[in-house]
Amino acid sequence: MTFDYDLFVIGAGSGGVRAARIAAGYGARVAVAEEFRVGGTCVIRGCVPKKLYVYASRFRDDFEDAEGFGWTVGPVAFDWRKLVAAKDKEIARLSAIYAANLEKAGVEMVNARATLAGANAVRLSDGRTATARVILIATGGAPTIQPAIPGVEHAITSNEIFDLPEFPGRLMVVGAGYIAVEFASVFARLGAQVTQVFRADRILRGFDGDIRLHATEAMRHAGVRLMPGVLPKAIEKRGGALHVALSDGSMREVDQILFATGRAPATQGLGLEAAGVAHDAAGAVRVDSHARTNVPSIYAVGDVTNRVNLTPVAIREGHTFADRVFGDRHVDVDHTRIPTAVFITPEIGTVGLTEEEARSMFDVVDVYATTFRPMKATLSGRVEKTFMKILVDGATDKVLGVHILGHEAGEMAQLLAIPLRMGATKADFDATMALHPTAAEELVTMRARSVRHEKVSAQSIPTG
Ligand code: FAD
Ligand code: NDP
Repeated sequence: MTFDYDLFVIGAGSGGVRAARIAAGYGARVAVAEEFRVGGTCVIRGCVPKKLYVYASRFRDDFEDAEGFGWTVGPVAFDWRKLVAAKDKEIARLSAIYAANLEKAGVEMVNARATLAGANAVRLSDGRTATARVILIATGGAPTIQPAIPGVEHAITSNEIFDLPEFPGRLMVVGAGYIAVEFASVFARLGAQVTQVFRADRILRGFDGDIRLHATEAMRHAGVRLMPGVLPKAIEKRGGALHVALSDGSMREVDQILFATGRAPATQGLGLEAAGVAHDAAGAVRVDSHARTNVPSIYAVGDVTNRVNLTPVAIREGHTFADRVFGDRHVDVDHTRIPTAVFITPEIGTVGLTEEEARSMFDVVDVYATTFRPMKATLSGRVEKTFMKILVDGATDKVLGVHILGHEAGEMAQLLAIPLRMGATKADFDATMALHPTAAEELVTMRARSVRHEKVSAQSIPTG
């Protein structure tokens, strides 16, 4: 049987673009369909514009801190529209580079929505049907708004917040995950009054417990009003303002309410049933460790599989899929010890197990932790702390996890991921020469164990 293409990729985001380029490099005839803009979530309305806004938000501290170092800073003002326009220009530039690279690789770009029409066929929103020997689902995810409350149509998600026509002087953020805390931190620093409501007792579920505590403190210092255990019950629009009734019985008037309550795999109406592709209850395409679905000709990578929803993971999954299927190169994706950062200020950088995970998995866990005032804060007078924690397997001395809240913690986590992957021990860290004066030198000079957790074995529990 002959097909129009060797590979048809649905979605030109992080995973799809990489897979298409690499497969084409092996000589495959490749097409990629994109219904929005080439580059996907990360480039258009995720990591990249987010980080640009994080940079914008940090100038506030810089202006204040400069005084302590002898500078006199005149009146400063922030122009939201100028930032949005500058961001738009950069995103357009990046999107064009992605499109040009696809073209250079010989990939055919299809500006249309694609849905599955069978194990080897896709239907395009421009009316065409295409056939392919292999189909890759790389449709990513989309924000979900939860809980569905009266007036929720007035809420926005991360898709809209980047391009608001006016700066929201009063912003309510719902949720306490990555997106919620990052935007709460950014908008507070840009000058908004930010209230963050969330169902848990603490922000950033799933992160190390100490990091969650220090992050809470950092958010408060940024001026974010944190309301744990509180959710919106109803939103009413009156005039230009939103009146939000909260579950604690209080009311708040805001300009915008951002729901950052998770993302769902973008598989609605994708034709998974038509092609017989298995998915879980949340709509995530089920794949094995080689990105294979239950249909031999259909694969899936990235957020649509809802495993680790980060850009470098989608890229690596897309790359290894193409290597394996079109290049006969058999490399596996290692989903362990993935470094990650949360871009609040100061930021969180983390790699490996949390203390809670380590204690549930290992008999003896040694904890090395330090909290200190960063050097820059001495002259600036800023009330700020850096926190670092190293978790070590007491039996083998292997470093299990490192968690940092401090400036450039994301950069540190990226580099720490290398020794952790190589199986470095605490003795390796200790034997490494410090680089002075840096914050990161603490990672190789921490000697005093702050806690040793030992699992109580069944025999040692007195039975009375
Ligand atoms: P996507 O990049 O989402 O690409 C999917 C593409 O498919 C989209 O372009 C979409 O329009 C298209 N599409 C969907 N359905 C169809 C269809 N039927 N037909 C045609 N096209 C279709 N990750 C990090 O690692 N670091 C960060 O700092 C970070 N920050 C983030 C900030 C925000 C606000 C958000 C929302 C996400 C962030 N992420 C971050 C996560 C990151 O963006 C995703 O993990 C990554 O984009 C996933 O890549 P993907 O290829 O799976 O999907
Ligand atoms: P997260 O899963 O990180 O957080 C979702 C938040 O929504 C949690 O606080 C959760 O509460 C809350 N929530 C979920 N359901 C409900 C509900 N029914 N009612 C009330 N609250 C609810 O998702 P995000 O949307 O923040 O981000 C999506 C993903 O994108 C991230 O997990 C990450 O993989 C990626 N990302 C990465 C970034 C980075 O690398 N810096 C930045 C931004 C996104 P609870 O805590 O109680 O579960």
